Amino acid sequence: MTTDPRRLVPRTDVLLADPRVAASAARLGRELVKSVVVEVQQRVRSGEVGPDAAADAVVAALPVSASSLHRVLNATGVLVHTNLGRAPWSAAAVDAVVAASGTTDVELDLATGRRGPRGEGAIGALLAAVPAAQAAVVVNNCAAALALVATCLGGELVVARGELVEIGDGFRIPDLLVSTGARLREVGTTNRVALADYTDAVGPDTGAVLKIHPSNFVVRGFTRSVEVAELAGAVDVPVVADVGSGLLAPHPALPDEPDLQTTLAAGADLVLCSGDKLLGGPQAGLVLGRADLVQRLRRHPLYRALRVDKTTLAALEATLRGPQPPVQRMLAVPVEVLRARAEAVVAALGGDAHVVDAGARVGGGGAPEFELPSVAVSLPASCAEPLRLGAPPVVGYLADGRTLLDLRSLDPADDETLVQAVRACR
Ligand SMILES: *Cc1c(COP(=O)(O)O)cnc(C)c1O
Repeated sequence: MTTDPRRLVPRTDVLLADPRVAASAARLGRELVKSVVVEVQQRVRSGEVGPDAAADAVVAALPVSASSLHRVLNATGVLVHTNLGRAPWSAAAVDAVVAASGTTDVELDLATGRRGPRGEGAIGALLAAVPAAQAAVVVNNCAAALALVATCLGGELVVARGELVEIGDGFRIPDLLVSTGARLREVGTTNRVALADYTDAVGPDTGAVLKIHPSNFVVRGFTRSVEVAELAGAVDVPVVADVGSGLLAPHPALPDEPDLQTTLAAGADLVLCSGDKLLGGPQAGLVLGRADLVQRLRRHPLYRALRVDKTTLAALEATLRGPQPPVQRMLAVPVEVLRARAEAVVAALGGDAHVVDAGARVGGGGAPEFELPSVAVSLPASCAEPLRLGAPPVVGYLADGRTLLDLRSLDPADDETLVQAVRACR
């Protein structure tokens, strides 16, 4: 039966020689492209794809990049979504990373030809943004910053019971601190701690007093905590504050979020935060404050295991020195602007799409009770899955039996792509 299409499966070398496929092989690697060719040959054998359509089917099935991570449109209304890679980067950060990704002068002084201090540009940008800091060091993430501080300054760390936080996915800050060999001296109760609790606990073995911002929950009612300013004047050991979300300075829309500048000015010796939450940059842990303490952290052997690569330094510096990163823009955009965007999307879609009021959130464990007024495109609940499986995937959320696509967390440049994605799955 020579007419059976399954006997006419195009050969691998023939499909790989198609100019479009060959160009992709040069970009994505021959093995990756070959695996797509093998899949398509299987589909021809099963009769799903005709032999003449095989080359087109290979081209259609080729991935956009050699990584399995997809670009995803974030319509969840959560600005810093940990499952979606937290902060999207500014164009300036992306450009800086592309430039730094080859060989780069991350640790070379081009003027003298000698070794230079690593990440000087990023550190300079941090110190310019937070004038109360004498020095700074950058590590892998805020958890790494906590581990480095606990390793270097513990002995015993004095910390309030109400601040022993689980950050998410089962990770508990006290477990992390203890894993470094530091001892925790818990003071106060779940809901209340007083200055005397701290001063009574500080003794000869105390390495530091640690304040951890309870960023993902709120305790209300009969509560009391001790501010950094009160502690700083009352204990003679370093006061270290983990502020979590990485605001550089107070933010008018987020009055309950602590910031680096204010916390240092209040007397903290070191402040710690993440780079990829409200700061809007790459994953990183930032430690700023007293020069002698930062120097101790930087000289500790563990620092070498926690330091960041050239691309993180490049993205961080560009985030700080460049135009406002997307997270900051998303926080600030007026709700009327979101409504106009939603109306345009709905007008382009027609059918049963409509505009609804919504509430967006900061996310990433920040500002847990704070809702930003927002606007969403409402679609039938059945749209959620095809949208998530589309190209590019769109992630919204379900509420009251509808799929909602919140526009505050979406880059306005992606509104048109959103329209196309919804059309493609209706
Ligand atoms: C998010 C957060 C952390 C963990 O930060 P990573 O950068 O994800 O390691 C630690 N402490 C606080 C207070 C946080 O909010």
